[in-house]
Amino acid sequence: MKKLTRTISGVTPVAVMTLPMSCPGQCIYCPTFLDIPQSYTPESPAAMRARQCGYDARKQVELRLKVLTEMGHPTDKIELIIMGGTFLAYPRDYQNQFIKDCYDALNGSQSVSLEAAKWLNETASHRCVGLCIETRPDWCGEAEIDGMLELGTTRVELGVQTLDDEVYWLIGRGHGSGEVVRATALLRQHGFKVHYHWMPGLPGATPEIDLALTRRLFSDHRFRPDGLKLYPTMVVTGTELEKWYREGRYQPYDAETMINLIVDIKLTVPKYVRISRVLRDIPPKFIVAGLKDSLRDVVKQRMGERAIECRCIRCREYGHRVRNGWQTGEPRMVRLDYEASNGREILLSFEDENETLFGLLRMRVQAEPIAGLENNRHLAIIRELHVYGPEVSLGQQSTAAAQHKGLGKALLGEAERIAAEEFRVPVIAVLSGVGAKEYYRTEFGYRSQGDYMVKSLASG
Ligand code: SF4
Ligand SMILES: [Zn+2]
Repeated sequence: MKKLTRTISGVTPVAVMTLPMSCPGQCIYCPTFLDIPQSYTPESPAAMRARQCGYDARKQVELRLKVLTEMGHPTDKIELIIMGGTFLAYPRDYQNQFIKDCYDALNGSQSVSLEAAKWLNETASHRCVGLCIETRPDWCGEAEIDGMLELGTTRVELGVQTLDDEVYWLIGRGHGSGEVVRATALLRQHGFKVHYHWMPGLPGATPEIDLALTRRLFSDHRFRPDGLKLYPTMVVTGTELEKWYREGRYQPYDAETMINLIVDIKLTVPKYVRISRVLRDIPPKFIVAGLKDSLRDVVKQRMGERAIECRCIRCREYGHRVRNGWQTGEPRMVRLDYEASNGREILLSFEDENETLFGLLRMRVQAEPIAGLENNRHLAIIRELHVYGPEVSLGQQSTAAAQHKGLGKALLGEAERIAAEEFRVPVIAVLSGVGAKEYYRTEFGYRSQGDYMVKSLASG
């Protein structure tokens, strides 16, 4: 049976798990099991697949491609999701080899180097249009940024969890909110999409504190992530937090409190954010206390009763709404400007009158230079271009495909116009997945420069 949700956002995600190695963090709530990367549990589907493949990246990707194809999913546009502890703290050789193996699997052949594998993937039949890595805010400095660019990374999930320095100390995170500010700015300035992991209900927090911190996430320009994964704190077997729980030093919120808090968090989140997950994927048998069931349905029901809606990107995506029986109208272009990490963020989207989202583009205009780019003192950088709806194959000549292609082109055209006419920047850059580079090259006249695709703007 084809599971529609897997490809509903237009790109097929493929999760790949790394070899278990120790993480520099010692967070008291973190699941730690033998032979599984830190923060994951045995029996999660990705962990079982990874073990079956001996944690070999190439085998994992090949297996996934085979299964997805058998299920009838298109596999020409892939987003690779790298799972496991703090990948950037692994030896650099391991990181490069692991990602090269992923590209080799997509390319169907073995290249001599990571660079060669990336280059081959630009025109391969399974193209990597996005690559996501998760890391800690204190493992996201200049060196890690360079490393991620070299790997072809486009999206970074930062383990932020809270913004309260006392809570960070209490849970043994080993960093504070200052590192979150620095990591967020660096990532954004280099064109990455920035998603945060966010944990309501940590020791030392209250629902009021959690809600106030969530508001701060969006009122303070130094944060303002593009996406959030909500991970209500749960007590996992074998953790230090379990000890605290058994000794009566920690008590998770009751279900009712947590559900109401999630509803309030959803109401706080601005339109430029995607809430991509609610609850960590941990089998109930490993959960000692805290919520065990996926919250999405019950949260949705609660919001329905109060006649309110989550306006995040995911909830408004065309594919999800069509699946939920919404009637969609004519898309028109909408623009949202906001400040973030000392730059201007411009979100262009196509939406109908009910705010159903057909596609979006994130552009940033900044004065911070990016090493290796020409005319880089005043720069526009496109961090995301995404057209939603059930995945349309690159070669599929349906009317829908044509329409979708038209939207991407219109978004990019408007972004270039804004960059040139309003901001007078001489050059526009895109940080895209290696498999999307050809699209910018052949359709829009961009050229490769370092890790980016760039185009000079005539009026700049
Ligand atoms: S940084 Fe992440 S993986 Fe490492 S111990 Fe903390 S929660 Fe676990
Ligand atoms: Zn939502």
